[in-house]
Amino acid sequence: METSTEGATRPDISPAGPGEAPDTVVVAGPPAAPPASLSPSRASDFMQCPLLYRFRVIDRLPEKPSEAATRGTLVHAVLERLFDAPAGDRTVPRAKSLIPGQWDRLRESRPEVAELFADDPEGERLARWLTEAEALVERWFSLEDPSRLEPAERELFVEAELDSGLRLRGIIDRVDVAPTGEVRIVDYKTGKAPRPEYAEGALFQMKFYALVVWRLKKVVPRRLQLVYLGSGDVLTYDPVLADLERVERKLLALWEAIRRATETGDWRPRPTKLCGWCDHQAHCPEFGGTPPPYPLPLRAPESGGGEQGRMGPD
Ligand code: SF4
Repeated sequence: METSTEGATRPDISPAGPGEAPDTVVVAGPPAAPPASLSPSRASDFMQCPLLYRFRVIDRLPEKPSEAATRGTLVHAVLERLFDAPAGDRTVPRAKSLIPGQWDRLRESRPEVAELFADDPEGERLARWLTEAEALVERWFSLEDPSRLEPAERELFVEAELDSGLRLRGIIDRVDVAPTGEVRIVDYKTGKAPRPEYAEGALFQMKFYALVVWRLKKVVPRRLQLVYLGSGDVLTYDPVLADLERVERKLLALWEAIRRATETGDWRPRPTKLCGWCDHQAHCPEFGGTPPPYPLPLRAPESGGGEQGRMGPD
C-alpha cells in the first residue's frame, strides 16, 4: 500500500465492508483539485458517506495509519513477493521469513507507520502484531496452494476510460490466466468475510475491476475471487457481461453525483456505524465539527438534492 487519495496506489485495494476497518490509508497530498478518476475505494467512500469522500479526495485531510490497514499492506506484500520463489519453495516457512524484510521496506517507504509502535518501547505490541501477520499469511495456505499457481500479474495497476470520459483505475492483487485464456481476478482481504447480505458490497470492487479488464482486453473475466484471510473464506462470483454493464451504469451515476457535489460543495454526511472508523469526526457536523473551508470554486446547488446518501453498490 502506498498513500494517495485517488488512484494508482496500494491503499485502494480494499474498500471496507460493514464492520470492517477501512483498508485504506490516506495522507495529505498536493493542493485540492476536482476529482479526475474513480477507484473502487473512493467509489465506496462516496457510497458510504459523500462527506468522507470530500475529506479524502477534495480536502485531502491526513489520516493516521492503523494497525489493521498496515498489517494488510504487509501481508499483501508478502503474498506478492512469495511468487518470486520457484513453485516448490512457496512454503509457509518461506512466506513467514519474508515478513521482517517486508516490514523494513514498508517502514522505509512510509515512515509514518513507525508511529504505530512509538509507544511500545519493549516491542511487545509489535511482536504480537507481527505474529498476527504470520497467522494471516499461514491461513492463506489453507485457502490456496501457491505452488500450483503462476500468476499472470501481481499488483497490477489498471486504468481504463469509459466512453463518457470517466477514467477508472485501481490495483488488482493477482490475475491468473488459464491455458484456455480464461481470466481470474483475485483480491486478498485480511479481514473477515462479510455476512451474505453484505456480499454484494464486497463484490462491487471486483466487478469494478472486471469492468476495467473488460474495457482494456475485451475479455469478461471468468471468475472473481475474494480470499478472506481473517476468517479463512473464499468468495467467488462468475460475472456475465450484463453484470459489467450494470456496474458501468452505476459508476456513471455515481460520477455524475460526485461531479454535482464537487461543483456545488454540497457534500452530505451520512452517519453509519462505520463512523467509528472515520478519522474526520472533528471536521464532521454529525459530531459537532466544522469542515475546512471548501477549496474549490462553487456554483449554486441544483434543485432536487441529487442522489447523495442513497447510493449503494447495486
Ligand atoms: S464521521 Fe461519519 S458522517 Fe462524518 S464524515 Fe466520517 S463517515 Fe461521514
